[in-house]
Amino acid sequence: MTDTPADDLKPGFRSDVTVELVKHTASDADVLFAARVSTIGEQSLDELGKDPERSKGLINYLMRDRHGSPFEHNSMTFFVSAPIFVFREFMRHRVGWSYNEESGRYRELQPVFYVPDADRKLVQEGRPGKYRFVEGTPDQQQLVGRAMEESYRQSYEAYQEMLAAGVAREVARAVLPVGLYSSMYATCNARSLMHFLGLRTQHELAKVPSFPQREIEMVGEKMEAEWARLMPLTYAAFNANGRVAP
Ligand SMILES: Cc1cc2nc3c(=O)[nH]c(=O)nc-3n(C[C@H](O)[C@H](O)[C@H](O)COP(=O)(O)OP(=O)(O)OC[C@H]3O[C@@H](n4cnc5c(N)ncnc54)[C@H](O)[C@@H]3O)c2cc1C
Repeated sequence: MTDTPADDLKPGFRSDVTVELVKHTASDADVLFAARVSTIGEQSLDELGKDPERSKGLINYLMRDRHGSPFEHNSMTFFVSAPIFVFREFMRHRVGWSYNEESGRYRELQPVFYVPDADRKLVQEGRPGKYRFVEGTPDQQQLVGRAMEESYRQSYEAYQEMLAAGVAREVARAVLPVGLYSSMYATCNARSLMHFLGLRTQHELAKVPSFPQREIEMVGEKMEAEWARLMPLTYAAFNANGRVAP
């Protein structure tokens, strides 16, 4: 891997996340052929496309009764750009996910930092596991923007000072905060994505509610939108069965 010098060392601030579906082999038919091998063996591929109502019923049955493995015969690769604190949470998802992230050893990290926008609820109420988030006051919003930007500028300056003095990137990066943006490719299948979505999104149809941090939920929502388009029957069955991964 080669070093890419920063074009512009002035910090940039973002409030959003990037999620792009870069590669996929994922369709409802992938669930059907895998499931039907149980009953019709190798002919299961020939049965695809016949009797769509039965196909819909089969997918719903698999989801409802948690026959999960037919949902693994597909693949989706996403490019994600988000703050490091989101990646820390993301990479706790170990099963059915593959990750490759940009390196702070081989590459000079670019000065792009997270600052929440005005819609981000800033104040937490309640107790652990049952938090409720409410709007911040204008003063709190102003403080968050100012404190974050000042602190990001300072730490990036210290990073640059060390690099200029010949200190290795892998040492100098220690001063950079978790609000710095990173990028990765993340590959999953529908089953592992459903498990992720069940935990990292809030949804009125969820049988088991979760309380994820808003910023990882923003990534989850964008992944969900891509997946829903690729596998509409599977997506509908996921929602109809309480958004619990099979
Ligand atoms: C709202 C929320 C708050 C959280 N808060 C914290 C926190 O405060 N601190 C913290 O450390 N983490 C926290 N987490 C992370 C959480 O504990 C999980 O690590 C994360 O959600 C990944 O879930 P998972 O292990 O089910 O996923 P995966 O790692 O993808 O595993 C999928 C499934 O495989 C099985 N599995 C995987 N590994 C094992 C194993 N070693 N043994 C047995 N079965 C296994 C389990 O059935 C598991 O559900 C939080 C998560 C959420 C959603």
